[in-house]
Amino acid sequence: MEGSTELKHKHLEFTLAAVSELSSSSVSSSSSTPVIARFSADGGVAELRFHQDSEFIDGLNVDLGTTQLFKLGPAKSLCISDSSDTNKETSYSRGVTIQFRNEEESRDFHSAFEQWKEGNFGQGTHLPNGAISSSKSKFDNKIEPSSAKMYFHYYGQLLHQQNMLQDYVRTGTYYAAVIENRADFTGRVVVDVGAGSGILSLFAAQAGARHVYAVEASEMAEYARKLIAGNPTLGQRITVIKGKVEEVELPEKADILISEPMGTLLVNERMLESYVIARDRFLVPNGKMFPSVGRIHMAPFSDEYLFVEIANKALFWQQQNYYGVDLTPLYGSAFQGYFSQPVVDAFDPRLLVSPPMCHVIDFAEIKEEDLYEIDIPLKFVASVGTRVHGLACWFDVLFNGSTVQRWLTTAPGAPTTHWYQIRCVLSQPIYVMAGQEITGRLHMIAHNAQSYTINLTLSAKMWGPGAEQGGIIQTSSCKLDLKEPYYRMSQPQPYTMAQDQQPHQLLQAQDIPIHTEDLEEAELLQQPSENSGAQLH
Ligand code: SAH
Repeated sequence: MEGSTELKHKHLEFTLAAVSELSSSSVSSSSSTPVIARFSADGGVAELRFHQDSEFIDGLNVDLGTTQLFKLGPAKSLCISDSSDTNKETSYSRGVTIQFRNEEESRDFHSAFEQWKEGNFGQGTHLPNGAISSSKSKFDNKIEPSSAKMYFHYYGQLLHQQNMLQDYVRTGTYYAAVIENRADFTGRVVVDVGAGSGILSLFAAQAGARHVYAVEASEMAEYARKLIAGNPTLGQRITVIKGKVEEVELPEKADILISEPMGTLLVNERMLESYVIARDRFLVPNGKMFPSVGRIHMAPFSDEYLFVEIANKALFWQQQNYYGVDLTPLYGSAFQGYFSQPVVDAFDPRLLVSPPMCHVIDFAEIKEEDLYEIDIPLKFVASVGTRVHGLACWFDVLFNGSTVQRWLTTAPGAPTTHWYQIRCVLSQPIYVMAGQEITGRLHMIAHNAQSYTINLTLSAKMWGPGAEQGGIIQTSSCKLDLKEPYYRMSQPQPYTMAQDQQPHQLLQAQDIPIHTEDLEEAELLQQPSENSGAQLH
C-alpha cells in the first residue's frame, strides 16, 4: 500500500504581469507592484494563491487537486478550478486568467503547476530576479518533449507492460536473481527505478525489503498503486511515487536499486542514464545495483538471405512506369533508408563469422555523460571465408548478488527474449577468408529522441593477387538510427534451442533459399564454424 510522503512547509513563487478572475472583471491586478503566484503545500494540500503588496488577493486561491491549467496564448493561461462546495446544485467552477511577463515564464509556471499537482514539491531553483522557478530537470534538458510524451504514453499502457511481464526469460531471471539473493534485500530500503507495473518492487518486498520506493513517470504509476494495494502483505512496504527519477524527492536513501532499464542494444531508450542518475541521487555509498553491469556483445555475421531481403525492398523504386510515373529518382534514397534500419530478430548463431567481442558498461561506476557517446573499436578474426553482411549485437546484464551471480542474456541461441538481437546490415558486404582479421568501429551518439545514431565501419584486407603486396583494404560503412528498427518478426523464427533438439533438427543454412548470384558464398555458410556458437551465459 502506498504510504504518504511527508510534506514539508515549502513554497514556490512566480512573478506575473497580471491576474484577473473570469467572473468578475473587477479583480484585475495590473498596477505597478507585481503580482505573485505562490504554490504552497502547507498542511498537506497543494494550493495556488495570488498576492500583491504582500496581501493575498481575496478569493484568488485554488486547490491544485481540483484545478486545471490551459494555455490561451504564449504568455496567457487560464486556471479553472472546481468549487469545493459539496452542494452540486450551487457549485460553479472558477476561472482565473493569468498574464505572464514572457513565454519562458509561462512555460516554467506550467511545468511547476504539473509537478505541484502531482505532489513533487520543492524542485525550484532561485532565479536572478529573486523569484523561485521550477528548473528543468536533467531529463528535460536532453530529451525532446514530444519523444518523452510518446515514450511515457507507451509505458502507461498495460499491454506493453504485459509484453514485458510475459517475457519469462526476463521476468523469471529478475525473480530468481532477487529471491536467490534475499540477503541483499532483507531489511533494506530499495528503490525501483522505472517501476512500471511495480513487479520488481513486489519481488523486492517478497525478498524481505524493509521498504520499497517504486518510482514511475508514466500513468502506469496508477496501475502499480492498484496492483500493490491488491497485494497488501507486500504492498504495505511499498510506496509508489509518480514522477521521473531525475525529479522526485525520496524521504530516505536506498541500500539497493533495482531496475530494468535495458533497451535494444542495451542503450536504446537512454534509460540507463536515468538509472545512473538514480544511483547518484538515491543510493548510499557502496550500495548495490540490480543489475550492476551490462555488456554489449558484437560479432560480424553473414546472412545472404537477410541482405537480399533488405536490398529487394528498395526495388519498388526501380519502376519506370508506376501509373505513368518514373520512380527511379528515389531509388537511391529508398535503398539507403532500408539499410539505415537496424534489424531486430532472433537469428541462428551459426551465422556469426567470428567469436564475439564485448564492451562492458559498469552501472555502478559509469558517469551519466559517458553514455552520450559510445565508441567501440572492433577487431575480429574470421572463422570462415564468407561475405560479411554486417555486425550482429546483443547484450547481457549481471545481477551480482551476495549469494548467487546471475546473468540475463539476450544472446542468439539462448532462449529468445523480447529484445531479440539486433543486426546492422552493410549495403556493401565485405569478403573475408578464414583466419583473416576484420577491424572497424561502432560509434553511437545519443540523440534527444531517447535513442542513438549508429555509425558502423568494418574493414578487411582483400585477398587474391595483389593483396599480399599492397594490402588493399575493403571498407564498408553505414549509418543507422536505433530509434527506427526493422522488426523482422513476421519471418519464421529461425532458432529456439529446445533442450531435446539435436543440432541436425535446427535450420540448416542450405535450407534457406538464396536469391542471389553469389551462390558460392552461400555455400560457405554451410561450413559450421567451431567458434560460432557465440558466448552463452
Ligand atoms: N520495472 C518494470 C518496467 C520496466 S520498463 C518491469 O520490469 O516490468 C521501464 C519503465 O521505466 C517504464 O514503465 C517507464 O515508464 C519507466 N521510466 C523510464 N524512464 C523513467 C524515468 N526517467 N523516471 C521514471 N520512470 C521511468
